[in-house]
Amino acid sequence: MLKTLRTQKSAKIYRKYLKGLKSHKKTLCPLCDERVSVKSFKYWRIVKNIFPYDKIANRHDMLLPRRHISENKLNEREIAEYKKIKENYIRNTNYHYIMEANQKMASIPNHFHLHLVELK
Ligand SMILES: [Zn+2]
Repeated sequence: MLKTLRTQKSAKIYRKYLKGLKSHKKTLCPLCDERVSVKSFKYWRIVKNIFPYDKIANRHDMLLPRRHISENKLNEREIAEYKKIKENYIRNTNYHYIMEANQKMASIPNHFHLHLVELK
């Protein structure tokens, strides 16, 4: 049994979606591709996760840098703003957890993102 925070049904749909992504010749990033932001900052934005951890979450969004970069490419300004977002914004929302997938679990490892989860 695959370990997942998604329901079996959602996990199956998500796996199909990932397979579809990989079969595309051009590498498109679904995070860059997501046009609608739930919240915008100068260097970061929050988008809705279209494949939420629906086993545990009522609401599941993702915080990501505007640039398509991995964590170790974040510059000082981006890191400073992240800390502010965490202290001044996320703290005052209904999110219960800021979660980061381990690299081997991350489906989109080239675009750093954190999961913002409001529990059921
Ligand atoms: Zn990207």
